[in-house]
This record gives sequence, C-alpha cells and structure tokens, in this order.
Amino acid sequence: MLPRLDLHVHSQYSPCAEDVSVERDAATALARGLRVLAVTDHGTTQVPEWLEDYFGELERVRRKFEGRLALLSGMEVDIVDGGRLAVSEWVLRRLDVVVASLHSAPAEGDPHGYWRRSLIRAIESGYVMVLGHPTDVGWRKVAPPEEYALEVLDAARSHGVAVELNFHHRDPAPWFLRLAIERGVLLVPDSDAHSLSEIGSRSWHEQRIRALGYDPGSVRWLTEGQLTRLLG
Ligand SMILES: [Zn+2]
Ligand SMILES: [Zn+2]
Repeated sequence: MLPRLDLHVHSQYSPCAEDVSVERDAATALARGLRVLAVTDHGTTQVPEWLEDYFGELERVRRKFEGRLALLSGMEVDIVDGGRLAVSEWVLRRLDVVVASLHSAPAEGDPHGYWRRSLIRAIESGYVMVLGHPTDVGWRKVAPPEEYALEVLDAARSHGVAVELNFHHRDPAPWFLRLAIERGVLLVPDSDAHSLSEIGSRSWHEQRIRALGYDPGSVRWLTEGQLTRLLG
C-alpha cells in the first residue's frame, strides 16, 4: 500500500495552476483517501510576493480540516545557478516541506555535469525533503550517465532526502526509479497536481513500480510516521 500522503500540489499561488486552490486541494485530497498534503507552489525568487497570503490561507484551511487531514506548508523551490536554492533561507526555514526541482539547465557545455552538481548541492543544503521530478528538466527528459545518477541517489539516501514519483510529469524515468529502489532511497508518491483531477491518482505510481518487477508494498516509501519525525 502506498502511504496516504502527497507532498507536491499547486494552488492559486502558482501561475500555471488550473482549478486548484489550497481549500479545493485539501477537500479533494481528503475525499480521495489522503491524510497528509503539502501545498507547494513555485518558489522562483528570494521572497515570493504571494508568501504571506499563502501562509494566511494555509492556516485558515488547516484549521478547517484539523483532525481529518494534516495540511503542511511547503514550496517547490527552483534549483538555480548550478545548485543554489532560489528562495531565501529564512523562508525555507518556515516551511514544513521543501521540494527542490531543476526547471532549466544550459543546453551547451556539460548539461549532465550541471544536473549532477545541481541536485547534489540542493540535497546537501539541508533544507530539502523531496527531489522534484529528477529526470525531467523543464519538460525535457534527461538521461545522465548511470554513475552520475548513483552519486545523486547516494547523496539523497545519506541525507534522508526522498525522490518523488511525479504523476504530472510521469517522472522519474524507469531506469532512474529502478536505481533509486535498488539503492534504498526513500520514495514519495506525489501528484504535482496543477488540476484537481490529478490529486489522488495512485494507480499510476503503483503501476510504475510494478512495471519494474517490484511490489509497491515492499519499496521504501516515506511514511506518515517518518514524516512526523522529520517535522519534529
Ligand atoms: Zn516542477
Ligand atoms: Zn510542481
């Protein structure tokens, strides 16, 4: 069974969002059997201008769903400049969940080296809980050498950073997911929902694991209990 959590959904504070909002996300997640939800809009600047509105709205909705759904604060933070998190540290410290994602990489030079360096530096920052769509950079699939992928995965495991299975991007690629499972990296079944229809689509995650010959019940998911401990 998959843990009943989703640590990556968007809301009205993301420009690319469709019908999602903090309140509709929470209601939909609860109706589809989830118990933990992190609302993670795009953090692309040091202090996103919607930040205080977001925290206010999250707190209002959190109280409304208290006892039924654990609503966590979060952000999908851009990894920029070869490994820097785009958002200020004081903002990151206020968040329950930081999903770090690479949305662009230089086409010239050494794009796979850039990928490796960026992800490892983000992991080592100490702020990141989840690596977002790791083999999809700005809707382009990346296929770095296996040794680079293993370095990233081993860094993730040793820092307790989870790799997400991202429904919106249908990512990671099967070869990367297989390595993540073999290396014992924590996995998290995220939707990255930009529309409500994407929330709670669990069968894709299970099929992705089964297609590799693994039982979805036996891989190393980030559990609700581990999450509680991480949030201390
Ligand atoms: Zn993303
Ligand atoms: Zn996202």
